[in-house]
Amino acid sequence: MSVVSVKCTSCRAREAFYFRAYSGEKLCSRCFIESIENKVRATIAKYMMLKFDDRIAVAVSGGKDSVSLLHILARIEKDFPKASLCAITVDEGIESYRDEAIKIASENCKILGVEHHIISFRELYGYTLDEIVEKIRALRDNLTPCSYCGVLRRKALNILAKKVGATKIAVAHNLDDEIQTFMLNIIHGDLARITRAGPTFDEKEGFIPRVKPLCEILEKEVTLYAYLKGIRFQENPCPYAGEALRNDIRNMLNRLEEKHPGTKYTIFRSAEKIREKMKETRIEVNLKPCKTCGEMTVGEICQACKMLQNLSIK
Ligand code: SF4
Ligand code: ZN
Ligand code: ZN
Repeated sequence: MSVVSVKCTSCRAREAFYFRAYSGEKLCSRCFIESIENKVRATIAKYMMLKFDDRIAVAVSGGKDSVSLLHILARIEKDFPKASLCAITVDEGIESYRDEAIKIASENCKILGVEHHIISFRELYGYTLDEIVEKIRALRDNLTPCSYCGVLRRKALNILAKKVGATKIAVAHNLDDEIQTFMLNIIHGDLARITRAGPTFDEKEGFIPRVKPLCEILEKEVTLYAYLKGIRFQENPCPYAGEALRNDIRNMLNRLEEKHPGTKYTIFRSAEKIREKMKETRIEVNLKPCKTCGEMTVGEICQACKMLQNLSIK
């Protein structure tokens, strides 16, 4: 029996190992890696995510997406001598999970020669996420640990980014994350969140603009990129992960993509069109300092402080 090798459709020289079903490309590992890095460059340019002299703080959790983003941006940043790159990590305080992730994040920073800054929930809020979860459970609060963690982590990242003088925060949301969030917001009828989400966040006083350079890369391709590049990342999931509805949406989208390659990109483009239309009707709100912590917010007290007050933490 003879095995017929298939040539890469990009370089036409090396053997292909990956079939990109949505585009029909058959790629060798080198062309696959290049295609991911080029796509990130194109996404940054398309959405005007970064300026030539930005100080970029990459939010690195230690997972495959954030560590891969750090590696890709470290490469891209070399072409922009006036730009600088650092990594910022939030230590939520999740036993036997976050410590390992932080170690991996630090190792990657060392390999790339990127400075690494860490801020913890304990130093910022006085409690670790584990302790906060105990309080949530004691109060039988309907909100999940991820709802608290998401709000508190966003605030922590913003505070740390300001502290290190960053002009942009790069977060590692991939295309799957983006469309899952879009579908969740549709299901919840959360129009404000649909409008607010997307590849970039508008500049607002007191907030470092956040950009998502991986927003057009499929999750499985980010994973493959990390493996091919030999990048070490944390593989264990967070013990609090498992938002039931998001998982069901993830499975549904994966099934659709398998049957109809390209569906995920179609949903992403549809979300963009809807967001653009909705932005036309958006009313600008005035921000003012939170009465408790001083961070900018829409009302009197920011969402993070409200959450902590609910748990009798502030
Ligand atoms: Fe926080 Fe949830 Fe992510 Fe765990 S899975 S780090 S609790 S947002
Ligand atoms: Zn090739
Ligand atoms: Zn506050």
